[in-house]
Amino acid sequence: MSDNCIFCKISRGEIPAKKVYEDDEFVAFQDINPAAPVHLLLITRRHIESMQDVSPDDAGWLGRMMALAPRLALENGCNPGAQGGFRLLANSGAEGGQEVPHLHFHIIGGSRPWKGRVAPNA
Ligand code: 5GP
Ligand code: ZN
Repeated sequence: MSDNCIFCKISRGEIPAKKVYEDDEFVAFQDINPAAPVHLLLITRRHIESMQDVSPDDAGWLGRMMALAPRLALENGCNPGAQGGFRLLANSGAEGGQEVPHLHFHIIGGSRPWKGRVAPNA
C-alpha cells in the first residue's frame, strides 16, 4: 500500500472508480480516458510499481492476473474469438509510457480490428 498512489486509493475505495471486478488480490475498473469502447484497468491490490519489479517468484499471482484478463474482457463487452479479441498492455517505466506508477494491465477492445502497430490511439 502506498499513501499517495491513486490506484492504491481506488483499491481502498478512497477515490471513486467504475469498478467491474474485485477480489483479495485484484481490482478492475473503467479507464477514465478510454482509448476504445472497452478500456479496463486491472490492478494488483498490493502496491507494485511496474512489470520491472516482478521476478519468477511472482509467477503465481501474475498467472492469476493474466488468466483473469480474458474473462473480464469478455464480460465487459469485448467480442469473442479470432474476429473479436482485445489488447492486453502493461506500460512499464517512463520509456514504456507508464504514467501511473502502480502495476496495471490495460484491457482494450470492443471496436474495429486493430490497425495501429503499438499505440492504443494509433
Ligand atoms: P499508464 O499510462 O500508466 O499505462 O496508464 C494510466 C491510465 O490510467 C491512463 O489510461 C489513464 O487514463 C488512467 N487513469 C489515470 N488516473 C485515473 C483515475 O483517477 N481513474 C481512472 N479510472 N483511470 C485513471
Ligand atoms: Zn499503488
